[in-house]
Amino acid sequence: MSETTSPVFDPVQGLISVKNQLQSAAASVGRSPDDVNLVAVSKVHGVDRIRPVLAAGHKVFGENRVQEAEQKWPHLRDEYADITLHLIGPLQTNKVKQAVAVFDVIETLDREKLARALAKEFTRVNKHLPVFIQINTGAEPQKAGIDPHEADAFVALCRDELKLDVRGLMCIPPIDEEPALHFALLAKIAKRNGLNGLSMGMSSDFETAIEFGATHVRVGTAIFGSRPKADQV
Ligand SMILES: *Cc1c(COP(=O)(O)O)cnc(C)c1O
Repeated sequence: MSETTSPVFDPVQGLISVKNQLQSAAASVGRSPDDVNLVAVSKVHGVDRIRPVLAAGHKVFGENRVQEAEQKWPHLRDEYADITLHLIGPLQTNKVKQAVAVFDVIETLDREKLARALAKEFTRVNKHLPVFIQINTGAEPQKAGIDPHEADAFVALCRDELKLDVRGLMCIPPIDEEPALHFALLAKIAKRNGLNGLSMGMSSDFETAIEFGATHVRVGTAIFGSRPKADQV
């Protein structure tokens, strides 16, 4: 979390450019830009880099690690009101308690054990956070997420049995494939399950994701500049 990265890259300029691109992409397919939530991915970046983005009025952020979020965000929440923090990284069941305390949205619900642990914790603290189910659209063995063929049953488990507030689906396409195919697949699975939320698209492909119906795009590098090496996706 050093402040040494990309000293010349101004995150407020990054934010403005990304918002402009988001608006154009939405307009190109007749969508309202207000229907696309920009989740500014601030992982690895220190609070001094995040503050200007908050000061510019942006309130929705994403972090991929519970411990890092715990170190950064309570301070920032003291300084700025109405922050919404999304968990966009893998969640271990032994960190569920901390995650529910520090995050507002869980985007990476990727297995039954986690669904049950979240349901239990939401009930315990009476705080029912919105969740997105992560779908492994590329069926990559090393990647987290529900297999597309098991998605419908998993949505039913989470929504009907565990009574989770399932807002939508999330995916991270394979790096070496055309993301549009994965965005289309995610949109199709969401539609047949009656889910409206689609968290898809990152710095390199968020405009395509918007064309395919993304309601949430997770953009880090294009706002904050490149990350220090400590990054883990
Ligand atoms: C890091 C990360 C992002 C942001 O990636 P960029 O390419 O920097 O925009 C988006 N989603 C997830 C799940 C990530 O881990």
